[in-house]
Parts: sequence; structure tokens; C-alpha cells
Amino acid sequence: MPGFEWFGEEERREVADVLGTGVLMRYNFDAPRQGHWKARELEAALRERLGARHAHACSSGTSALAAAMAALGIGAGDEVIVPPFTFVADIEGVLLAGAVPVFADVDETLCLAPAAVEAAITPRTKAVLVVHMCGAMARIDRLADLCRRRDLVLLEDAAQALGATFQGRPLGTFGAAGCYSFDFVKTITCGEGGAVVTADDEVYFRAQAYTDHGHDHRGNDRGAETHPFWGTNHRISELHAAVGLAQLRKLDRILETQRHHQGTLRVAAASVAGVKFRELPDPAGDSATFLDLLLPDAGLARAVAADLPKEGVDGAFYWFGNNWHYHRQWDHFKTGASPAPLWQQKEGLLDGLSTLDLPASDAILSRTVSLQIRLGWTPDQLATRADRLAAVLQRHLS
Ligand SMILES: *Cc1c(COP(=O)(O)O)cnc(C)c1O
Repeated sequence: MPGFEWFGEEERREVADVLGTGVLMRYNFDAPRQGHWKARELEAALRERLGARHAHACSSGTSALAAAMAALGIGAGDEVIVPPFTFVADIEGVLLAGAVPVFADVDETLCLAPAAVEAAITPRTKAVLVVHMCGAMARIDRLADLCRRRDLVLLEDAAQALGATFQGRPLGTFGAAGCYSFDFVKTITCGEGGAVVTADDEVYFRAQAYTDHGHDHRGNDRGAETHPFWGTNHRISELHAAVGLAQLRKLDRILETQRHHQGTLRVAAASVAGVKFRELPDPAGDSATFLDLLLPDAGLARAVAADLPKEGVDGAFYWFGNNWHYHRQWDHFKTGASPAPLWQQKEGLLDGLSTLDLPASDAILSRTVSLQIRLGWTPDQLATRADRLAAVLQRHLS
């Protein structure tokens, strides 16, 4: 998964361009920057890589979600359907937009189940936020159809899925907008960074303005620009964009390495009777940041996840008990214990969250163990890891 493993001379060279001029800001300062526009170059490279009409780089994946929601007109009182297995940033983004998160179950893709989404629709539903978890795809074709049929906005969070595709098309380009993260542990990193992509000129215009206090960025005189609507500061710096630019050039090699490493571990795990894998609507499009195992029951999954690191197989995640990624640990916003309550809390719109219960998602996540794929394993380390993985699984499942 992490591009930080391959930080090197290429990144240092790009950053040195920026340090050489001292123009750390992405806008204006045209003369002193001596032709270096790293954020713009990153955006051009993303457009090309993703086949997207527009890409806007910003300060984080969370910022990208905030900008996308503002640009798509998701606001006060709107309901946004979200999965319970995601990164908590998606829920934060919905809340910051003034909207209300409505949870729908995931299925064995580990992403939103289309039937559960349909059942969660109410007259107040505005959007469906599909999160492509652990480097691979939701049932994006069916979810896109559903959104079209029910006249809902489709927003994609592809923060963990840069480079992944469904039937050849990049994840993040199916919805009205798609969001990416380049934080320190993502497939490529800027240190901190993110991006919104969209095919819609107006959505792009609003998203880029929203991340810079509503500036329209028409012309190059900051003083003469207008503010068509409000925004705040979610700008990416030139230093961060420079790192991302070097990292993006490595994406294909990263994907190739991840797929090779994941494939070896998959063969080892598949040799053990009873091991199943996460369902992939298009296996060829998996970016292979993780290998996701579905074990026969929760007790086995917990025991395997606990034993793997003892046997030298580190990077095993048991999401069911995880702080950041599964709703069961999110009392910090469910119970509303905040010094500055959100309007949604004051109005009681989040009261239902304190008793949120999703047994169908629990039944899947409690059996899931994900193995993080690293780039730096040598062939020997990979072979040893595969053997030990198979041995641990064999011991528990036989
Ligand atoms: C990392 C992540 C985000 C947020 O990205 P940041 O850049 O850390 O703000 C959003 N959604 C998912 C699924 C993520 O994994």
C-alpha cells in the first residue's frame, strides 16, 4: 500500500525545484516561481492517469470530500448514505457539510450493498457516498445504476483505491465526483494531500473555489477575483504537490509490485480449506494494497489476526475492532459529547446513531482479516511470509 516505502531522489528533486524559488504557494507569484507550478502539474498528471476531465488537488482526502460535497450541493439536512466500514473521514465530511449520515450495510465486497442502499433511501436522501475500501471496488456499476434510477448524487471515495479500476475504468470516475487521498499511508503520498476529479465543469469550478475561500481563480490578480460562494482553506502547498508528482510517476510500478506480492500470498492462503476471499466484482482491477480473507467465523478470524504477527506476519488488520475504520468504535460522534455541538446534534438528527446496529455488516467484518501488502519485501521474505501465512491458517482451520 504505502508509497512512502519508495521515497527517494525523484521526490527530493521535485521538492528542490520549489525550495529553489521559495514560492510555496500554488497560486499567483507568477514571476518569482520561475515556471514551477507543481500543483498544476500534479493535476494534469492525475487527469491523464485517470482519464478525468478535471482534477483539483487539495490539502487532504478529507478536504477533497468536503470540497466535493460543497460542489455537489450537499448541505443542511440532506441525507447521505454511507457504509459503516470506511475511514471515519467520510462521516466527518458529511457532518461538516451540515448533512446527516445514514448507514447502509456492506456485503462481501466489503463495500456498500446495493440492496441495503436502496432500502435506506428516504425523501431526504441526496447522495450515496460509495467508498472503495482496501484498494478494490464496490459494485460500482450497480450502485451507479441505482443512483441514476433514483435520481441521487453518486460520490466516490477512492482514497484507498488510486490505480484500481472496474472493467478498465478508474475507480473515482464513475460518480459525479471522485475523491483521493495522498496522506502518508496511501498508495502514493504527498505527506498530506488529496484530489477531487469530475467530468462536470461547474462541479470542478465550485470545488476549486471552495478550497480557496471561494476565490474564482479567474485571471491572475487575486485582488480582482470575485467570490461566487463561500469556501475555506483546503489548499495544497507546492511542496506537497511536488512530492505527489514524483510519486504518481511510480504508480504503475507500485501496482505491479503490489499485485505480484498479493498474488503470492493469495495462492498460499487459498491452499488452506475453508479460506475465502473478499468478493471482487472485477478481480483484474484490484490495486492489491491488501489481501482480504473471509474466515469461517469470528472466533477464528480473531485468533488468526492475533497469531499472524507472532509468526512474523505483520500488517494483519482485524477491522471489526478497529478505531478508525468500523462504526462500532465511533462513539465520539454517535453520542454527541462535543464541546461545540453540530446543528444536526442540536436538532436531534443524529440521535439514531447511538443505537446503530448493523448485524449483516458485523457478520462480514467480524470474519474479515486483511493483510497489508508492502512494496519492500525481498523474494525470500515474500516466500517465507507466504509459508507462515499458510501454516497459521492451516493450524486454525484444520
Ligand atoms: C485516508 C482516507 C480518507 C481521508 O484522507 P486524508 O488524506 O487522510 O484526509 C478518506 N477516506 C478513506 C477511505 C481513507 O482511507
